[in-house]
This record gives sequence, C-alpha cells and structure tokens, in this order.
Amino acid sequence: MIEIRSVGVFCSSAMHVEGVYEKAALELGEALAQHQITMVYGGGAQGLMGKTADATMAHGGRVIGFMPHHLREYEEPNWAITEMHMVDTMHTRKRLMFEHSDAFFVLPGGFGTLDETFELITWGQLKLHEKPIIFINVNQYWDPLESLIKNIFEQHFAKPEDKNCFTFVRSVSEAFQALLKTPEPPSPEHIGELV
Ligand code: AMP
Repeated sequence: MIEIRSVGVFCSSAMHVEGVYEKAALELGEALAQHQITMVYGGGAQGLMGKTADATMAHGGRVIGFMPHHLREYEEPNWAITEMHMVDTMHTRKRLMFEHSDAFFVLPGGFGTLDETFELITWGQLKLHEKPIIFINVNQYWDPLESLIKNIFEQHFAKPEDKNCFTFVRSVSEAFQALLKTPEPPSPEHIGELV
C-alpha cells in the first residue's frame, strides 16, 4: 500500500449550493483529521473548500493552503489554517498543491474544480505521476461527467489504460476505502519529471 500523509482537495468555491454538498464537505474534513491526513487545497475561506478546511481544523487536523496574490480580489484567504501560503501565480499554486499531496479527492465543484482535476488526470495519462485521483460523487453530481468519460473510452478518444488515472466513488467513506487500499506503484523510475 502507498503511504498517504496528505490529500489535495479540489471542490467548489460557491456559497449557495444544496446542504447535501456542505454535509459531505464537513464529513470529509472530519475524516481527514481522524485519519491524520493533511488537507492541501487552494486556501480559500468560502464555499465547500472553506467548509472542508474549517472542519479539518475543528477536528484537530492539519491544513495547508496555496493562494495566488491576485485571487484575493475574488477569494478571501483562510488564515485559520495550519499553513497559509500566498504564491505568485495559478500555475505555482497547482504545482505546489501537486507536490504537497500524495493523492487527490474531488468533491462537487465548477470550472475551477474541473480545471485542477483534469490537469492532474492528463499528467497521469502522460505518466508524470501515479497519485490516486478520486471523484466523490455526492448526490450523483458527477454522473454526467462519468457518462461523458465512458463515451470518451467507448469512442476510443482515450486509451483503456487511462482508466487507471482516476476513480469514482459514491461517498466520503468509500473515498477513504479506495485511498487506503491503493497499491504501491510498480516502478517509480518510470515516472517522468514535471516541467
Ligand atoms: P470552482 O470549482 O469554479 O468553484 O473553483 C474552485 C477553485 O478552483 C477556486 O478556488 C479557484 O480559485 C480555483 N481555480 C479556478 N481556476 C483555476 C486554475 N486555472 N488553476 C488553479 N486553481 C483554479
């Protein structure tokens, strides 16, 4: 099994989503703290990401955030976390989140969530890493995306082995089950360098 000490969390920055999503964010934060897994994220105080971070902290966990300076115009940094780092660009944020995370959980979110997640899926496709990426399909939110991905494979727009780059689960507890039974990658020397 790979050792998981930290998980990058991608999820919504939106404030007005249904309660079922907030419940999952709180559950995820509590579970990260219980498993003594550090949460790594974009550092915002609002939306599902802020809720997850606050819940992790409230249950005695550790949270690291990376926010580009220019984003302060739109998003309030969450100063109540273990380490809040202001960085120069979105790309620096993504690189640091990647480097500090052993795996990734994807709760429901919008374009930002999709952007961050698909960049890492494509890095996996290019064999730049083998870190697990787990979509948590709360309230069947990701069903249309799962259908699209199925179509991508059926129509041969991705190779069958690319299915190994990510997993869909239905709940926070299933996400931890999937994460904690992830086998060791076979040969780290084949993993490429990120540029
Ligand atoms: P959203 O899913 O649209 O609510 O966005 C979730 C988070 O993704 C927000 O905190 C955004 O700052 C972040 N985000 C959006 N686009 C990017 C990007 N290109 N690179 C890194 N983070 C992003």
